[in-house]
Amino acid sequence: MLSGNITLNTIDRRETMRYLGMGGRLRPEEVLPELMDRCERELLSVLDAKYVWQVFIYREGVIENCAYQIEGEAAKKHLAGCDRVILLCATLSGGVDALLRRKRLTGMAEAMIIDAMASAAIETVLDKIEEEIFSQPEMAGNEHTWRFSPGYADLPLSGQKTFLASVNAYRRIGVGCGDSFLMTPMKSVTCLIGLGHDLPQANRKTCALCSLDGRCRFRERGEFCYR
Ligand code: SF4
Repeated sequence: MLSGNITLNTIDRRETMRYLGMGGRLRPEEVLPELMDRCERELLSVLDAKYVWQVFIYREGVIENCAYQIEGEAAKKHLAGCDRVILLCATLSGGVDALLRRKRLTGMAEAMIIDAMASAAIETVLDKIEEEIFSQPEMAGNEHTWRFSPGYADLPLSGQKTFLASVNAYRRIGVGCGDSFLMTPMKSVTCLIGLGHDLPQANRKTCALCSLDGRCRFRERGEFCYR
């Protein structure tokens, strides 16, 4: 099991615009640059990105020696051909939740921008974690799948508590989950990454397995929920 921190110095403005629902319509510089700069500064001052991950043996749909098990068919299809699976949890930590709570009381515009920036930030954090994981010498020669999160397609959120317990997420990085299966801190993500050789799945995410395909607000705007 490995845990660590990720430092961010900037937030991706284009991704922020996409989360604000203005992706294809406005350029970042067209949305009050001083406001965006201020929101970015405030977010970066409280953001404390942390992660924990662990590799498990994966055989015929079963994660060995792990309390968390995959339900539904989509994630199993996604992990076809994999012989190991990484359980990864990352968070921007509780300071971001506190900032968002304060902003919702004092200015909804800033709250919305910071929320969108935080969503962009957690994706950047996950990209950086992936880079770190796959730059490790023991990972050389492995192929891997893209990140598949509970809540996507038919992989239920109801497994979140067990997922978090399986990587000791609360003790390691302070991420927990209530009865609603929503994680706290709010800007936290869990995901599965399959490992193996000659994998049939492409590393890039597609809409093919998504239950929202055909009625998706991103696709309606000609966008995707992923990069
Ligand atoms: S863009 Fe929409 S349909 Fe495609 S994976 Fe994301 S949520 Fe699903």
